[in-house]
Amino acid sequence: MSHVLHRGSGQLPVAVGGERCHVIDSDGRRYLDASGGAAVSCLGHGHPRIVAAVQAQAAAMAYAHTSFFTNEPMEALADLLIEEAPAGIDKAYFVSGGSEAMEAALKLARQYFVEIGQPQRRHFIARRQSYHGNTLGALAVGGNEWRRRQFSPLLIETHHIAPCYAYRDRRDDETEAAYGRRVADELEAKILELGPETVIGFIAEPVVGATAGAVTAVPGYFERIREICDRHGVLLILDEVMCGMGRTGTLHASAQEGVAPDIMTIAKGLGGGYQPIGAMLSSRRIDDAIRAGSGAFQHGHTYLGHATACAAALAVQQTIREERLLDAVRARGRDLAQALTERFGNHAHVGDIRGRGLFMGLELVRDRAGKTPFDPALKLHARVKAEAMARGLMCYPMGGTIDGRQGDHVLIAPPYIITPDEIGELTDKLGLAVEAAIAGLPAQP
Ligand code: PLP
Repeated sequence: MSHVLHRGSGQLPVAVGGERCHVIDSDGRRYLDASGGAAVSCLGHGHPRIVAAVQAQAAAMAYAHTSFFTNEPMEALADLLIEEAPAGIDKAYFVSGGSEAMEAALKLARQYFVEIGQPQRRHFIARRQSYHGNTLGALAVGGNEWRRRQFSPLLIETHHIAPCYAYRDRRDDETEAAYGRRVADELEAKILELGPETVIGFIAEPVVGATAGAVTAVPGYFERIREICDRHGVLLILDEVMCGMGRTGTLHASAQEGVAPDIMTIAKGLGGGYQPIGAMLSSRRIDDAIRAGSGAFQHGHTYLGHATACAAALAVQQTIREERLLDAVRARGRDLAQALTERFGNHAHVGDIRGRGLFMGLELVRDRAGKTPFDPALKLHARVKAEAMARGLMCYPMGGTIDGRQGDHVLIAPPYIITPDEIGELTDKLGLAVEAAIAGLPAQP
């Protein structure tokens, strides 16, 4: 009996190795990592350059607290990230993962308004069907109903508006543009309802990941959001923890929306899983205000800017540049979209195939015409995951796609180095897993 407080109750295989796009367990079974774990492993496993960078940094220095010292890998990583950051972004704050990055973003945003003499700004607005992390601040702004429910008495008050989820919510008589404007305008209505002078920021994932399954916004939506934020002096905080760092084919997902945030968060693909690392990136305007005011961001963790984590992320990001892996994401992304469309385009139980680059989702439905979801009690998503694992495939299915309770999807987010042959293996195994999971369901009324 394990003494580890595991996430779930089932028996898990023991991961002992990794090789490019595969994870290997203690029985020698190989699993094609079609989800990079949770959209993490962008370079796959065992990349010699990253392994060497981690070894060298760990050998040079275990740890130096950031209130005493800066360190070279952290400075170099910040320089590299800011060189390619969205317009106006000028500072990087390194933490150990996505939730910590989101906590830092929320606190920096609040402190900014205190520094500029607007302490009455206290509200965050975010979207339903989003995920921003599991710590209390990040969980509060997140719109994943299932994750929030039992902790709701502990969560800071946050206001949620509709996601931009055209497959389900665009009306038949509405163009994409009209739909995008309608849902973006919910932000303005909420800001006006709360009082513009009380709102700190609006938080969104440019491409919604775990909660809704690679949902992209319709063209024009984020531009409208940016306009609304600007009109009311509200900060735009984009969570690129999952969709960022190249996963959608550009380094930042927001680049494809034509907007730049005031604050953004990144993690997963930043270090590619070689070390735990995340970052909050903030605009010069915010940094200037803090410098001119109290002088420092009032925050911190023991492992801020850990040198080994920064060295790993630096090597990952240099490798992505030098091996031109964003080109690979775009090319393999096209292959993946085509393979998924061939395999599932006419599938009776796949209602939507969506996403961008190597960040794709399938929404599973009981019937396509009515977009009727499966009964949530059947936990189809968990069955798909188990059937996929039994076939040596890791994918990332989730339930609650539609409203936190109903709906099932499968997220696919393989390493950027996946080959066309592996994409074939992925779709074959996923097809078998989906069919086996559906065939195993008890008869429906
Ligand atoms: N934000 C998004 C969009 C995420 O997908 C996640 C994790 O899946 C997080 C934040 C939280 O990141 P972490 O699990 O590293 O704390």
